[in-house]
Amino acid sequence: MRSTGSWYDIADEQGNKYIGRLRGKLKQEEMKSNNPIAVGDYVDFEIENVEQNTVLINDILERENYLIRQSTHRKNQAHIIAANIDQAMLIATLVFPRTSLGFIDRFLVSAEAYRIPTLVIFNKKDLLEGDGLVFQEELVEMYKKIGYESLAISALDKNDIQKINALLEGKKTLISGHSGVGKSTIINHIAPYLGLETGDISDYSLKGTHTTTFAEMFEIRPKTYLIDTPGIKELGLIDIEAEEISHFFPEMRERFGQCKYYNCTHLHEPDCAIVKAVENGEIAQSRYESYLSMVMGEDNRK
Ligand code: GDP
Ligand code: ZN
Repeated sequence: MRSTGSWYDIADEQGNKYIGRLRGKLKQEEMKSNNPIAVGDYVDFEIENVEQNTVLINDILERENYLIRQSTHRKNQAHIIAANIDQAMLIATLVFPRTSLGFIDRFLVSAEAYRIPTLVIFNKKDLLEGDGLVFQEELVEMYKKIGYESLAISALDKNDIQKINALLEGKKTLISGHSGVGKSTIINHIAPYLGLETGDISDYSLKGTHTTTFAEMFEIRPKTYLIDTPGIKELGLIDIEAEEISHFFPEMRERFGQCKYYNCTHLHEPDCAIVKAVENGEIAQSRYESYLSMVMGEDNRK
């Protein structure tokens, strides 16, 4: 459920809670990667001390999928932040703060690469009116058309929270998005008993208070889990070649083989099915722009 470095919070199928440590042989693995067990992992363990509720972890079971985080300092170092995820829920806002479409699309490309279905949720719709609302509705429709579940909500609206609740039922969901978009507010409305703190986390870091943050999994109902990864905005992506990026745009992937050239990069080649689809409005301009900036390696991590 949670890892703080050397200790792990563990829950069994009956909901009993334990504190676990790695067994010696696993510890050696830890020397190789700096975080061998992640939130969401299934482990095999045995009781060490009954009174203190401590256990020893014997083994990590095979993962269905996992997310890695790339070290910002050392480019070729990464550690696992979460495993066995059913879906990701990306929370975005068009105002306060504004989430860029480039950021959303980069997230979706990473999620595609990890084969994690993603819900694109636009929060704070109560702060929009007129053209802003229309634009948001267009974005929702655009992402739905590509195949992503998408919804505009207000965390202050009970009906909207119910809709989110229904989307989470029976799943392990990674919740993600910039600081301030309303993640804690949404979680608090769904599961008030968790008592999460809301407020802009970055405020604290600006004041120099170092808040160490760990990924954490919450059981909001039996078999329904939320994984919160504070401070992690982007999914780490390793080893995606520029030529592969279009495979992770579903609307480009479905047109695979329709360009004149088999190895078309969809940049400047003649008779390109992707460029044509952008021109006639079948592929959204903003999606194509995100594709371009990813292929060109521009830094649009905003
Ligand atoms: P987090 O950093 O993503 O966890 O964001 P928080 O949940 O802490 O929310 C940041 C601020 O936005 C808080 O002041 C919330 O009260 C506010 N907020 C969250 N959701 C909404 C919403 O749907 N509408 C409005 N108007 N404010 C919201
Ligand atoms: Zn092409």
